[in-house]
Amino acid sequence: MKIFNTMSRSKEEFVPVKPGQVSMYVCGPTVYNLIHIGNARPMIVFDTVRRYFEYKGYKVNYVSNFTDVDDKIIKKAMEEGVDSSVISERYIDECKKDMTSLNIKPATVHPKATEEIDGMIEMIGKLIDKGYAYVAEDGTVYYSTRKFEGYGKLSHKDLDNMRSGNRELKVTGAEQKQDPLDFVLWKPKKEGEPYWDCPWCKGRPGWHIECSVMSKRYLGDEIDIHAGGEDLIFPHHENEIAQSEAANGVTFAKYWMHNAFLNIDGEKMAKSKGNFFTVRDVISQYDPQVLRYFMLSSHYRSPLNFSRELMESAKASYERILNCGENLKFLLTKAQGTMTEEEAALVKEAESYRAQFEAAMDDDFNTADAISAIFELVKWINSHVSGSSSKEFLETLDKELLDLTGVCGLIVERDNTLEDDLAAYVEAKIEERKAAKKARDFAKADAIRDELKAKGILLEDTREGVKWKKA
Ligand code: AMP
Ligand code: ZN
Repeated sequence: MKIFNTMSRSKEEFVPVKPGQVSMYVCGPTVYNLIHIGNARPMIVFDTVRRYFEYKGYKVNYVSNFTDVDDKIIKKAMEEGVDSSVISERYIDECKKDMTSLNIKPATVHPKATEEIDGMIEMIGKLIDKGYAYVAEDGTVYYSTRKFEGYGKLSHKDLDNMRSGNRELKVTGAEQKQDPLDFVLWKPKKEGEPYWDCPWCKGRPGWHIECSVMSKRYLGDEIDIHAGGEDLIFPHHENEIAQSEAANGVTFAKYWMHNAFLNIDGEKMAKSKGNFFTVRDVISQYDPQVLRYFMLSSHYRSPLNFSRELMESAKASYERILNCGENLKFLLTKAQGTMTEEEAALVKEAESYRAQFEAAMDDDFNTADAISAIFELVKWINSHVSGSSSKEFLETLDKELLDLTGVCGLIVERDNTLEDDLAAYVEAKIEERKAAKKARDFAKADAIRDELKAKGILLEDTREGVKWKKA
């Protein structure tokens, strides 16, 4: 299995720290608003990476944080006149609802920054003791980036150039910094802000320290994969490496994975630019599975442009997979018996698509090609099953399809649950229509079809009988 490692800028063979196990840390959202579909990209991509490791038999320990103390959260809390925890808890709940809609598995642990403050104070103290951090006059604690030899190794940036050329970096954080690239580990409180006691000043942590601390606490000093969107490479991930490696004395993460942006009109979708759609907006118009399909239809390291046309095309493609799965289920309601010799030989052909799928996923999680393999399988299934297929044959193909779609987190089943009364009514109407057709009363049969359509139920006549689904 090969993974593109941002650190080496090349694909590397995956060798876990501990055999048979994968530890993954994925930087999560800052919770002051509903998440937008740009935020959903890393969630869907890395959930799929996790699912593929699990499919391969690894035990995955997956940690993803919620940043619940931050300027934007505090600002919103002040506007609403509530405690900042009211804002963060509200949007953590909303984020979890969106994750459920998108069939994103809950992380093994979803730590929150405000619940890990003790660990942060401990790590900052250690960094000061080891000479990697210093305390300014007002109690602000800075990380001294010049002290950490490997600073810049992830982002491959020309630091000297940045130090001399970037006026903005010099100005932010004011003159107390010893170097323009030094960053805040802890800062004094301002009026009305949440704060904690610590040896340096009453205040709150900088952003980067939380991930170093949570990763260490839940996954250990050395982890397999650290991931997030590519905007996090610098400074966030660079700073996490500086903190963790200076404090722990070992390599922080073996593999660094970063997804490219979800764009709109060629520009990064971002809350600050106002050019975003929330997940909630999009799933009010499309099945959440269509959004998931759309995200996986391109490779995670390629920029992806969001448009209605692409969503419509994702919808049509996803429906083809759905129809195939439902047709199998329908045939299975009537099928019987074990596989014939001929069917057993055919299954070998079907299995070749699994090999194609795995080859794509083994090559740095190429979900675009993996989905093409699912399509090939769908095409193959559609042309090889019928009302005379054996039960065992259909079950085998159903499993092939569900195994592969399951890795992508795609649900191959429409929500066809109806209220009990309506379900009985639909069945009765189907029988009535059958009788009308038998009596050659086609006008009546059509009227029944139209009546059900008006109720949101679509009928389809197939060789094996009448199927219905929700419109
Ligand atoms: P934030 O809440 O801004 O800290 O972002 C949470 C996660 O979403 C991070 O991994 C970001 O890199 C990622 N992210 C934010 N916007 C986009 C975007 N337009 N495309 C892809 N990933 C994004
Ligand atoms: Zn992080």
